[in-house]
Amino acid sequence: MAGIYFHYPFCSQACNYCNFHFSTQTKYRQQMQQAMKSELYLRKSELKTPIESIYFGGGSPSLLPASFFHKVIKSVNDCFKLGNDIEITLEANPNDLTLQNLKDLKKSGVNRISIGVQSFHDYELKMMNRIHNSNQGLKAIEWTSKVFDNFSVDLIYGLPKSNISTWAHNLDILTSFNPPHISSYALTVEPKTVLFRQVDKGDIKLLDEEAVQLQYDLLTSRLEKEAYINYEFSNFGKIGFHSVNNSNYWNGKPYLGIGPSAHSYDGHRVRSWNISNNLKYLKSIENGCLSQRKEVLKDHEVFNEYVMIGLRTDGVKIKRINESFGSNYGLYLEKQAKNHLLDRRLFWDGDVLKVSRQARFLSDGIASDLFMLKS
Ligand code: SF4
Repeated sequence: MAGIYFHYPFCSQACNYCNFHFSTQTKYRQQMQQAMKSELYLRKSELKTPIESIYFGGGSPSLLPASFFHKVIKSVNDCFKLGNDIEITLEANPNDLTLQNLKDLKKSGVNRISIGVQSFHDYELKMMNRIHNSNQGLKAIEWTSKVFDNFSVDLIYGLPKSNISTWAHNLDILTSFNPPHISSYALTVEPKTVLFRQVDKGDIKLLDEEAVQLQYDLLTSRLEKEAYINYEFSNFGKIGFHSVNNSNYWNGKPYLGIGPSAHSYDGHRVRSWNISNNLKYLKSIENGCLSQRKEVLKDHEVFNEYVMIGLRTDGVKIKRINESFGSNYGLYLEKQAKNHLLDRRLFWDGDVLKVSRQARFLSDGIASDLFMLKS
């Protein structure tokens, strides 16, 4: 099974923390829709297995009309074999959603909405320069839950000036809607963003790591009480609502990334990514070719990626390490894990290496201690 990701690289307003590829210009928006469809036909021989997930991300694909998704889903159907029960997700900004628009989206074939609410506090939304306000966030969830059974809400924790009670308030509101899926990420400061400059100049003060961890711990304990399964570090789903798109990515399934900056993976060793420049992308597609770079992953890179994802999801399977990379990798992993096992940050569940509940927040740091630097 495989997936297709569409990257629509336009937004109405730039969030101050965002380092994705996007433009706020209105130029090229029409051409981009056509070019993304053309890229699909150009690459129709690249995926051999049925498609079980289509994901419209960006940028802000919710700026596009429902008719666009209808046409693209039809094109995917022309080019590839679709699996049964395909998941078709649209990432949406709350201010782009109306009850009528949601009904049109459902008719177009989209069957899952991922709403970028981020916070229910207006001062936090302003600080992030989000385009929507908290009332629009509330309305978006209410309307989406009327039209779609399957939807997800994104919230950001660890925001400047937040504390455990402001975060608890966000979680109270979110859980009162009982969404089937929640994704929650810590605010990160990426280079070349407005936030980076604000922090650098001292205009914004970040929380210390301990305060961020407290918010993560509240997130996991609170959602566990509400019957969510924390199936990946930042992702929580009710039974039957774990994201197919995300799970495929973590399980190393192949996917095709369409649109400027979109990444693709062949399911084995080859990763590729489209050029992150809208005009150059449009020109190359117009000329019937792709402006793309490729890398072939080495053994130790695939191993490191598996360790990182394993610790964030259902554990690192030693049998799989030995079979895929050889027993020297298995022995290396056991040696590197020793101190973390002694400190009970890691534990063996049969032959699967897992992160203990209290060390979950530290998963990525622990994973980097287990990395192999080269094959
Ligand atoms: S809407 Fe999304 S993609 Fe656009 S600037 Fe904000 S975070 Fe980035």
